[in-house]
Amino acid sequence: MKQAPVIKPGATIGILGGGQLGRMIALAGRAMGYRFLTMDPTPDAPCGQVADEQIVAAYDDAQAALELAEKSDLITYEFENVDATVAEILETKSFVPQGSRLLRITQNRIKEKTAIQEMGIPVAPFRVVASLQDLEAAIEELGLPAVLKTATGGYDGKGQWVLRKHEELGQAFAELSKAGVELIVEQFVPFTMEVSVIAARSLSGEVSTFPAAENVHVNNILHLSIVPARVSADIELRAKQIAEQIAEKLEVVGLIAVEMFVTADGSLYVNELAPRPHNSGHYTMDACVTSQFEQHLRAVCNLPLGSTRLLSPVVMVNILGEHMDATLAMVEKLPPTAKLHLYGKKESKEKRKMGHLNVLAATTEEALAIIDDLQIWNKVEVTQ
Ligand code: AMP
Repeated sequence: MKQAPVIKPGATIGILGGGQLGRMIALAGRAMGYRFLTMDPTPDAPCGQVADEQIVAAYDDAQAALELAEKSDLITYEFENVDATVAEILETKSFVPQGSRLLRITQNRIKEKTAIQEMGIPVAPFRVVASLQDLEAAIEELGLPAVLKTATGGYDGKGQWVLRKHEELGQAFAELSKAGVELIVEQFVPFTMEVSVIAARSLSGEVSTFPAAENVHVNNILHLSIVPARVSADIELRAKQIAEQIAEKLEVVGLIAVEMFVTADGSLYVNELAPRPHNSGHYTMDACVTSQFEQHLRAVCNLPLGSTRLLSPVVMVNILGEHMDATLAMVEKLPPTAKLHLYGKKESKEKRKMGHLNVLAATTEEALAIIDDLQIWNKVEVTQ
């Protein structure tokens, strides 16, 4: 068997995508001695600000992708919707340990859910919907409530419709089919909590998982990650085993974030996968021996994976555009165990992820109380 190569410090890593995930990969990797090159259409992008160089180009610019490939010893993605032609150029002209097979699966909810189900891991029962008749037949079987989703292109709750009454089916179908992509309808899972586990798998096949995060969403956008998650040891263990199994079966190289629903009887259902660092893993930057970003680099560079041990209870809270003014006003008053991370985005738009705060404390309750006291987020957001 051919020995997988080790990409040693000093090498140049190309990052397709210049957003905050790329930025935090580059920040972690610079400490490890790697150099970085990123490609993104926005000049001075969050990752461009901390990389050695940024190629300013659209994500589907083949010429620019060729330049990225030629200048990089290894390429990594920071988002899933990578253009197929660009992926092919990168893979033939450079080294892309993550590959593109996994992207093809995670870009499409139907493929993703089918793959997970085939592993014997529970997902919400679902049907593919190509017409209103399909939707009606599916609802006959699955019942209401149900969630109609676009199979591709949706994120942060976009491209989704929670169906509660039969009368809504026509309007929901008409609205979501405007996108011109396949649709999927899923049974609504009456979950009591959402958790996620990030697993890493290296080129050599070593697998490791981070502690489960309990995630609270507001308006479909991640608001808080609470770690340790307030679940039993058994649920934590099963959640990690599911993530490990998915990483192994899909032959992930790098990270895979596995989002799961927990129901009242302790069952777990996988909702979604992301083959990259994930917002719900930002807590690892200050609360674990190894951050998810360092772990991602260790995995793709084929270094031994780092310890994922949790050093302290932590709550991560997202800072969106609407929280920026209050955050900046509080900067001088932040408590000593509140670690602020800002992404260097020029324009602060509503709902745009601008940064996050990791609050370490003796307990997660204490961390939540500290966040509450800061009064950056409104009551609805904090008391969830
Ligand atoms: P997604 O884009 O699939 O991650 O879904 C966004 C959010 O919608 C999830 O975090 C859940 O809160 C909710 N959701 C999605 N699918 C379901 C489902 N089948 N049952 C209940 N809630 C869901």
